[in-house]
Amino acid sequence: MIRVGVAGAAGRMGQAVCAAVEAADDLVLAARADPALGVELADILGDVDVVVDFTVPETALDNARACVRAGVHVVVGTTGWDPAQLTGESGGGNVFVAPNFAIGAVLMMQFAAQASKYMTKAEIIELHHDRKVDAPSGTAARTAALMDGEVPIHSVRLPGLVAHQEVILGDVGQTLTIRHDSTDRTSFMPGVLLAIRRVGSLTESPLVGLEHLL
Ligand code: NAP
Repeated sequence: MIRVGVAGAAGRMGQAVCAAVEAADDLVLAARADPALGVELADILGDVDVVVDFTVPETALDNARACVRAGVHVVVGTTGWDPAQLTGESGGGNVFVAPNFAIGAVLMMQFAAQASKYMTKAEIIELHHDRKVDAPSGTAARTAALMDGEVPIHSVRLPGLVAHQEVILGDVGQTLTIRHDSTDRTSFMPGVLLAIRRVGSLTESPLVGLEHLL
């Protein structure tokens, strides 16, 4: 049994992760940390094997550092920070980061990277719910980084949306549109559970991108 702690447990993603962990036979939801619960990450590190972090960009780096130094593995879904800042961090815990845990989004990024080798120009439109704090989205930034050439990103924030992205590629007399929609936060849960199960056996840390675990 893997003992899991969730940082940001009272948030939208954190609540979904708690439910998914509780429903998994090989995982135990050992602790929840969140300002709304009056529990800090430091309070739970002694009780868990893996922390899942879905918090805010300002705290993700410090949270990951605290986990590594405590010898606790950490799976980070929080976006809007730079995982490269963790390079060289040692202490025993592994770090796995994914800007998007949905399999469809991972495939969208791979298809977009492939298409960008053959088509002249591309732009990204990412659309999210209006409570999202960072822009551009981590998924859009990661997609652009994987693609050839300069890829401008346009961000849309509206109520009613969850997480959506279109990559539009243009060439002489044609366009190609690759689109992914997460219509529910459950779309991220299989990827999160996979990362929880695999983070302890990583040979590289920090490791970024769900494609490395598939
Ligand atoms: P949210 O509803 O605002 O939840 C974040 C929670 O973290 C809030 O309850 C917040 O409390 C809490 N928090 C803040 N600082 C903390 C700390 N130091 N320790 C523990 N908890 C802390 O946001 P969300 O929609 O769940 O999104 C969370 C993050 O996940 C965002 O960065 C989002 O972009 C990302 N995300 C990633 C994926 C993916 O697949 N990788 C998918 C969806 C979302 P307060 O409200 O009191 O600050």
